[in-house]
Amino acid sequence: MLDAVVVGAGPNGLTAAVELARRGLAVEVYEAADGIGGGARTEELTLPGFRHDPCSAVHPLGVRSPAFSAMPLSRYGLEWVHPDLPMAHPFPDGTAAVLSRLVGETAGSLGPRDAGAYRRLVAPFHGKWPTLAADFLRTQWDGLPRDPVTYARFGLLAAQSAALLTRRFHDEKARGLFAGLAAHGIAPLTGFGTGGMALMFAIAAHECGWPVPRGGSQSIADALAGYLRALGGTIHTGFEVKRLDDLPPARAYVFDTSPTAMARIAGLGNAFANYRYGPSVFKIDYALDGPVPWTAEPARKAGTVHIGPTYGEIKGALGAALDGSDPSVPFLITAQPTLADPTRAPEGKHTFWVYGHVPNGWEGDATEVIERQLERFAPGFRDLVLARATAGPPQLAVRNANYVGGDIAIGSVAALRLVVRPKLARVPYATAHPAVFLCSSATPPGPGVHGMSGHHAAKAVWRSLRRAR
Ligand SMILES: Cc1cc2nc3c(=O)[nH]c(=O)nc-3n(C[C@H](O)[C@H](O)[C@H](O)COP(=O)(O)OP(=O)(O)OC[C@H]3O[C@@H](n4cnc5c(N)ncnc54)[C@H](O)[C@@H]3O)c2cc1C
Repeated sequence: MLDAVVVGAGPNGLTAAVELARRGLAVEVYEAADGIGGGARTEELTLPGFRHDPCSAVHPLGVRSPAFSAMPLSRYGLEWVHPDLPMAHPFPDGTAAVLSRLVGETAGSLGPRDAGAYRRLVAPFHGKWPTLAADFLRTQWDGLPRDPVTYARFGLLAAQSAALLTRRFHDEKARGLFAGLAAHGIAPLTGFGTGGMALMFAIAAHECGWPVPRGGSQSIADALAGYLRALGGTIHTGFEVKRLDDLPPARAYVFDTSPTAMARIAGLGNAFANYRYGPSVFKIDYALDGPVPWTAEPARKAGTVHIGPTYGEIKGALGAALDGSDPSVPFLITAQPTLADPTRAPEGKHTFWVYGHVPNGWEGDATEVIERQLERFAPGFRDLVLARATAGPPQLAVRNANYVGGDIAIGSVAALRLVVRPKLARVPYATAHPAVFLCSSATPPGPGVHGMSGHHAAKAVWRSLRRAR
């Protein structure tokens, strides 16, 4: 009998498998797709030689994730590369707010009236990333924080909505920048914790950067898989698990899936019938003949570019996705991986990664509204397009069963759902079935390629197996 079977080879499933194998357990992973990685994959989606990330591209929470930092992933090919600037947030007048590695450069880009407020906001967390990440990328009631003072200080800010947090700023540069950071969560800007999400991303830019892995996000999954195999673990691909009986006998089954799929497969009945899925995205991957011709100069050297630009426009775009309306002026998160990693495209050419928010299950085509937004900030963009690959909610859901209705977060993060997921429980990774566990981003600390859900789930599995022994 195996010690553990992991269903799904996404970053959390692979992290859980590694952590269990590292404790000497016999582990096998079963993945539905033909390749591993889930949301951390890289494929030639458009033209030969153009390597695109269909899902995650930029990794502020991955580069110094407590789980990944404890593994020798560089030995298995993972190399982080940093663009000159982590993020730029351009405005139509050709200026931009920026998130730089340097607090001073960031504050300076926000204008004289908000520079001081920005410095005061982030200064208390300088040099505190290891404890901040360990204390917040977990289930909040699971044990005492490592650094209680910083925890309390950050927690008081993190609980605030982006709407409240941005009240400390006067001008649109800072307000737009924070709204854009908060909008990664696809929740109303007035919602609990949206300010915390924005602040975490800002601090991560200063403490860790917003890097991309050389060769693409697939390198993260491949490094985890390489380490797992070295520890004796096995991975099976092209194997969609439909029932527990499909799997070999094991003492624990760990699901890197949606809670509803886990309930169906493991026979947990209506355990997650009330679980809520959130809005989706419309994703476009471009093969370009040259770099994006941004009007704002800082955007030409930023790994990530947010197209809002104002707090009001971002709020409106999020509202449309949340209300079920068609996107008209979408907020865009874009990434330019080839600026830092030219290996992803033929010489002189570029890959470009964009998504805008759309309602869950939306079946329209957002290409036109997305490209209209891009042309507003980078006139001439369309002339550079060699090829594009688009994916709306139905296509995202087909590629990965975890994206129910195209929800890339595997569950809404609105209200308290970023903290309480998949439902209120002392150990949210455990289920009513003593051998069945959940490790996907439907558990704390939620979406992102950081492996922390897998890390904490592995701990829960380990404790349970030890008790059983
Ligand atoms: C378009 C897009 C952009 C994103 N951008 C970023 C970004 O820039 N940075 C970032 O940090 N995060 C980003 N994310 C989010 C990130 O990709 C996810 O939060 C992360 O991948 C979640 O990891 P996971 O292991 O929980 O699940 P997943 O990555 O979804 O992996 C789950 C795996 O389980 C498999 N599976 C599901 N059901 C079964 C079954 N029944 N049998 C066998 N296998 C099964 C799936 O095929 C999949 O491989 C993005 C996501 C998307 C879609």
